[in-house]
Amino acid sequence: MIQVIEKQTGTAFKLKKGQKLKVIDPQGEQVSDMVLFNAEDPREKISSGKTLDFEESILITKGDFLWSNRSRKMMEILEDTNGRNDFLLAPCSPETFQIMYNNHEYHPSCFENLHTSLAKFGIEPDDVPTAFNIFMNVQFDQNGKLSVDPPLSKAGDYVLFEAKMDLFVALTACSAEDSNNGSFKPIHYQILD
Ligand SMILES: [Zn+2]
Repeated sequence: MIQVIEKQTGTAFKLKKGQKLKVIDPQGEQVSDMVLFNAEDPREKISSGKTLDFEESILITKGDFLWSNRSRKMMEILEDTNGRNDFLLAPCSPETFQIMYNNHEYHPSCFENLHTSLAKFGIEPDDVPTAFNIFMNVQFDQNGKLSVDPPLSKAGDYVLFEAKMDLFVALTACSAEDSNNGSFKPIHYQILD
């Protein structure tokens, strides 16, 4: 069954070892931030640093694993029809919109959507790590200058993950204008046994 994450919202759920998670961009050009926690001990969580180190790449895609802060495999990427994801930038937060967008009004954010979704598992805002940013198109030049460009994902693109341990997973439909080419769209996902 396809589950829908409405635009600018998020969700969290359990995923058992061996189950697969398919994250779909139904309309194209929409980022989804994902964080992972060991369901047995949520102090173990997804680590950008460990993943980039062990996979020897800053572009994580099909064939790569997502690793934890305890250097264990949390997920394997089985398929990736778009092939561009980001694992450098933190989830957009209220401060992102103040600092990067000079917006001091309330603005929905991945950070808020992640930690409010994860509260039912006892996970607190300060526990939220750098997310694996599915479909996010962060480019960098030879000097290391970063730019957040429109996603390259087309309608129907997806990434298929397999859980390597029992997990709490949180997923969003990202709320940052620059990350999603100026419009907010839903994300779909499916849990497969
Ligand atoms: Zn976001």
